[in-house]
Amino acid sequence: MPVNNKMVQSISNIAKLNGATLIAVSKTKPFSDIEEAYNLGIRDFGENKVQEMTTKFEMLPKDIRWHMIGHLQSNKVKYIVPFVHLIHSVDSLKIAEEIDKQSQKINKITDVLLEVFIASEETKFGWNAQELLELIQNQDIISLKNIRIRGLMGMASFTEDQDQIRNEFKTLKTLFDQFKATTFEHQSSFDTLSMGMSGDYEIALETGSTMIRVGSKIFGDRVYS
Ligand SMILES: *Cc1c(COP(=O)(O)O)cnc(C)c1O
Repeated sequence: MPVNNKMVQSISNIAKLNGATLIAVSKTKPFSDIEEAYNLGIRDFGENKVQEMTTKFEMLPKDIRWHMIGHLQSNKVKYIVPFVHLIHSVDSLKIAEEIDKQSQKINKITDVLLEVFIASEETKFGWNAQELLELIQNQDIISLKNIRIRGLMGMASFTEDQDQIRNEFKTLKTLFDQFKATTFEHQSSFDTLSMGMSGDYEIALETGSTMIRVGSKIFGDRVYS
């Protein structure tokens, strides 16, 4: 399926009008699709697999900003740290420590988001609000010198219920604002709220998203082999 050029431009413009950035989620899609979106001006791409993202980084233009949006395993962190723009999916202290360690080795400060669990489903990764508060109060994650916490990421429930989605995004936005006013009060780089996908990016923008991660609406449905 070809890239939906009109959709790329329209979603990218809607994001911009709302002061947000479109991350084109290109997982499972070929280089040619990414090049097509690139030629339309898109520079931010999201992937959820380390190997796939690394290969694409090597093959594609170097001014692409690569966003890791999938659950990470510790032993693979080292492959993406040298080039990744932002890791959205920090879901454990262990992963944060590994990103910090690998970043320190190459003298880099890696930008990350903490993944918050806001959906009603059981299977999604991330901390709930209470766990996140405790994590941050304990200072463990804050004290890591080679990661910079830029904000939060979350995924709403997979549901048709728009009110439920809105409420979940509002919960995340409230949490984000709380952290911004307290722990990260003196850190202007705490500025990123990554929420919204193909099915719910409009609600996400209404409720304060600064980064929407859109895949299938741009690149068509994904086929997993
Ligand atoms: C796949 C994925 C997306 C994009 O999903 P679409 O519904 O295709 O837009 C966004 N965020 C994460 C974390 C994903 O894994």
